[in-house]
Amino acid sequence: MLGSSFRSRIGRKFSTLFLFAAMLPLLIVSSVVYFYTEHYVFEEREHDLNQEAKLFNVMLTERARLLAQLVSDDEFVSLGAGSFSKYFNSVSYKPAVEVSQPNKYVPRLLTQADGRVFIVKPRVDEGLDHWYEVNLDYFFSGFLALSSEFSHCLITTEAKTLFCTDGLEGKEPMLESRLKNGDVARERWTLVDQQSWRIQTRPVFLGLDIHVEGWYIFTGIPLEDIYAPNAFFSYLFIVLFGLTLVLVILVSQREISRLLGPLKRLAANAEALSYQREVAEVVVDSKDEFEDLADAFNNMSRRVQRNFFILNSLSEVDRLIVERHELEDIVELAWERMRRVVRGELLMIAPIEDEQDARMLIISGELDQDTPVKASWNFEQSDPLVELLKTEESILLDRDEIERMDSGLAGLVLHSRFDTLKLRAITLNGKWMGFAAIGYSGVKPVSSDAGALLIGLADRIAVSLSDIFKGRALYHQANYDYLTSLPNRKRLRELLSDILIAAQDKNEQVALLFVDLDNFKQVNDSLGHTFGDQLLVCVSERLRQALNDADILAREGGDEFLLVLPGIRSQELLQRRLDDVLDLFKAPVAINGHHIYVSLSIGVSLFPDDAKNLDDLLMHADTALYKVKDRGKQHYLMYDSSMGVSAMERLELENALWDSIVERQLCFYYQPLMNMHNGKLGFEALIRWFHPEKGMISPDKFVHVAEETGFILEINDWMFDQIFAQVRVWLDQANFALDKVSINISPLQLLLPDFIEHLSKSLVKHRVPVEHVELELTEGVFLDNQEQAELRMNALKELGFALALDDFGTGYSSLSYLQRLPFDRLKIDKSFISHVQEGETLPELVLAIIKMAQSLGLSVTAEGVELKSQMISLQEAGCQVIQGYFLSRPLPAEECTEFATLSARFFKETGIAPVVLTGEV
Ligand code: C2E
Ligand code: CA
Ligand code: CA
Repeated sequence: MLGSSFRSRIGRKFSTLFLFAAMLPLLIVSSVVYFYTEHYVFEEREHDLNQEAKLFNVMLTERARLLAQLVSDDEFVSLGAGSFSKYFNSVSYKPAVEVSQPNKYVPRLLTQADGRVFIVKPRVDEGLDHWYEVNLDYFFSGFLALSSEFSHCLITTEAKTLFCTDGLEGKEPMLESRLKNGDVARERWTLVDQQSWRIQTRPVFLGLDIHVEGWYIFTGIPLEDIYAPNAFFSYLFIVLFGLTLVLVILVSQREISRLLGPLKRLAANAEALSYQREVAEVVVDSKDEFEDLADAFNNMSRRVQRNFFILNSLSEVDRLIVERHELEDIVELAWERMRRVVRGELLMIAPIEDEQDARMLIISGELDQDTPVKASWNFEQSDPLVELLKTEESILLDRDEIERMDSGLAGLVLHSRFDTLKLRAITLNGKWMGFAAIGYSGVKPVSSDAGALLIGLADRIAVSLSDIFKGRALYHQANYDYLTSLPNRKRLRELLSDILIAAQDKNEQVALLFVDLDNFKQVNDSLGHTFGDQLLVCVSERLRQALNDADILAREGGDEFLLVLPGIRSQELLQRRLDDVLDLFKAPVAINGHHIYVSLSIGVSLFPDDAKNLDDLLMHADTALYKVKDRGKQHYLMYDSSMGVSAMERLELENALWDSIVERQLCFYYQPLMNMHNGKLGFEALIRWFHPEKGMISPDKFVHVAEETGFILEINDWMFDQIFAQVRVWLDQANFALDKVSINISPLQLLLPDFIEHLSKSLVKHRVPVEHVELELTEGVFLDNQEQAELRMNALKELGFALALDDFGTGYSSLSYLQRLPFDRLKIDKSFISHVQEGETLPELVLAIIKMAQSLGLSVTAEGVELKSQMISLQEAGCQVIQGYFLSRPLPAEECTEFATLSARFFKETGIAPVVLTGEV
């Protein structure tokens, strides 16, 4: 770890330096002293050695002189040798020998090879030398009194050791050999043996009274003894050195640990800090730079920890944002975190919670509280503080200013203790999203890092808010209709599903109303989409007025709305609710000065009577709606199971239709039309679809779908070819007096750009004269695109086509169309006629229509004539042409020829004579 390696490294370095610094001088000084004293002691000893050797020589001289005197004393000599035995062993006389000594009369000491020593007194008489054998025991007695420190030997050149004291005993051979080798100078040398000795060698000089030759003194002292004082000094030195060392180490360790202690803790803290762990302050009370360092470090670590805390807080807030927590949770966390770094009295975070409702979430509290207080503030956009925050990024206000401001916020803050309030707007991309505020006692600016935190948090909250708003917008987009803000089909299904579950539990009925605007497409096409959109909004608002609390209104798409009415307890109640809805539309809707009457078609299905589940309920309401549209008379219909084509089936149909052309499942049947006045026979071409599995499918079921899907356009040319080819066949038949063939033209078809061109081409192709063709249009044609339709119709009229208004009485049936548009004929819808029973009179409406048509100069065809009585009444009422099962059902083309030939019989059989008028009307 950093701490310990740091410590050991610096510790080692420190202690080495310390030791080095402390010990080096000591070492040098002591070495110098040591060597100096050694030298000095040595010199001293050498000197002593010399002195000692001299002393030995002196002692020898004294003895020798005594002997010399004795032998010179004639009296002593005359006593004879025996009396001198203390000194001499014997005396003998030998012929004088010539010697090379300086004074040939001076006695001399002489050593014989056997080790005996003689004192020779030369030429005493008659040329005889007296030889006295020296008693060596006597001669050397008393020498032991010499200093015990030193040791002495007396060795002659004959290599005889005459005398040796204890110390050098045993070393004689080495000394002798040195002498033998001729090293006889007076000198000092070192004898190296097991115990080394320092030796002084000197020739014995006995003075002028006695001559001696080849005697040498060896005086020695063991080196050990020479250095003994130094050895003590060495021990002392080692002990001292050791002591110093220990002392130095102790002191240095103590100092080092004193120095390193804080450093170590600082290092550990720095390390902990780097791992973002919480660290305690390092207390150093050394009153030196270390204390300064610790203070600086503590300062830094406080800041760093604070910054870590801030960063951690921010990232925690980020995490909540990313995890899409509730705004309240995020803000609360932000508050709680900020509370710990902000210095002041009051902390308040107030993001806008709901933009539409102008509602702010206010999380605020005094800083010594653990949890903030939550509140909602419905602010006015014109609130002075709000206005200020929208323009200023940060504001400093004091209590009085806030009081004077007349802001709704005042009530929320003023009860807290603070003198100054620092506010900071929360904005994202320039959009104001709330504010954060810190209250201070006194006038105090935000400290810079708390300021940074405030900004950081404000930014994050802004991001979070924008995210939440975006999420809400997305949710809204996905669940609500952009135009009317009503729940869309997706949302409705969710809501409805809940309602159905609840209803099931409560054993209640739920009515589902599928509402469709009549002729909305026409409004849209003629007045423009903007207008259409406005109309839809107006309609949605009107529908909303019909809602009870538990009801739901949704937009299913286009001009379709869904109304869910739970809690339907009786048929009467449902009836009443439906009437209420319809009543709302009795008055016209005003848009841009236009007054529009809106009529609704409503399909109703009931849960659980009609359907046990949501999908079926919707499907059945749709089916009922489809029926309402189809019947065109009532405004609403309750679903009943006999209604047949369900929405699902419609989808299947749609797919099957496209196959039908390829597989040639489509063909035309022709229904005869009889002109009661001139007996002429016409036919209406009615499409038939023979489905391989489902058998014949009624046009009532599929034409609607074919129109909606545009399929009808696909078969446009095919239709004309089919019909005109057939007409050509009939025209070529001699016995077939064909009046007109009526062709149903759907609004879409009429508005095809090249409709007329195609029609004419087909006509020319089959050589069918235009006077044999009548085109049946419904009112829908001129509602869709009035101008264009009018142009087309006029063009068709110009070309000589006859035009009939089909299904008259079911739609708008507005007189103004009839006046303006070039129709030749009205076809009264079969619903008015087929219900008329035997013996009943025609409905007033039918009579009125016939009268009106006459006054406008239009011919009238009555559809749905099923009974003879009906035909008669119609004829009486002035209707020229009849069509219906009474005359004939729609027939396959082949059967029409036969019908034509037989038609003459018809009058005969029925007893009805055609009223022959002047030509056709
Ligand atoms: P529509 O134009 O009103 O045609 C008359 C319908 O009344 C025919 O039904 C016919 O079969 C039926 N009908 C005739 N006499 C009687 C009667 O005495 N009593 C009753 N209850 N009904 C009678 P269909 O053939 O089922 O056709 C239904 C509708 O389909 C037609 O009504 C027409 O709007 C449409 N349609 C049929 N063929 C075509 C076509 O080729 N093009 C277009 N665009 N629409 C067509
Ligand atoms: Ca028709
Ligand atoms: Ca019709």
